[in-house]
Amino acid sequence: MADDAQADCLFCRIIAGEIPSASVYDDAEVYAFRDINPGAPTHVLVVPKRHIRDIAAAEAEDGALLLALARAANEIARREGVAESGYRLVWNVGPDAGQSVFHLHLHLLGGRAMAWPPG
Ligand code: 5GP
Ligand code: ZN
Repeated sequence: MADDAQADCLFCRIIAGEIPSASVYDDAEVYAFRDINPGAPTHVLVVPKRHIRDIAAAEAEDGALLLALARAANEIARREGVAESGYRLVWNVGPDAGQSVFHLHLHLLGGRAMAWPPG
């Protein structure tokens, strides 16, 4: 596990390979894998390898890393064949948004038409 990884963090453990996941993207800073309970035909979680609690905890110096997450998501959308049909990128923060995992993750959802506003 990386130095900053948290032993009790589910996504740190997935990044470390201690818990299996269906990988779709992997580079020096970013890992992405399929959501275990998909809400759309394409539902991928794009996460920084470095532990950050959530988007509300991101600092100015995390800017390049956040851009790397967005760029990885766009690349995954192309690979998944949803770049033209469209997709949604979501940060859930706190109880009303249903946040359940406290390691920053960008949801990439695509492959079907989606309602707005979300339920
Ligand atoms: P949140 O609700 O925090 O925005 O999103 C957490 C997401 O992680 C959920 O969509 C949930 O289905 C997914 N998830 C939770 N546990 C696991 C797991 O062990 N493996 C994978 N691949 N996804 C998980
Ligand atoms: Zn973590």
